[in-house]
Amino acid sequence: MPIYEYHCKKCGQDFEELVTSKDKSIACPHCTSRRTEKLMSAFSVKSSGGGGSAASAGSSCAGCSSKNCSTCH
Ligand SMILES: [Zn+2]
Repeated sequence: MPIYEYHCKKCGQDFEELVTSKDKSIACPHCTSRRTEKLMSAFSVKSSGGGGSAASAGSSCAGCSSKNCSTCH
């Protein structure tokens, strides 16, 4: 099961919580406030990075008007 990192907006503590339901509001273990927000872990950021690793090298660059770099460099 996924463990997410949370930040408490009330006391400022970060904590990890085992999440069994997406809609469940997580209470802070330090102050029991439910004013918490889920932090993006490095893992989830990497896995939802927009397919950057899927782009093959040299297929295009930021300055390319065409689909490959063969004419722009
Ligand atoms: Zn707290």
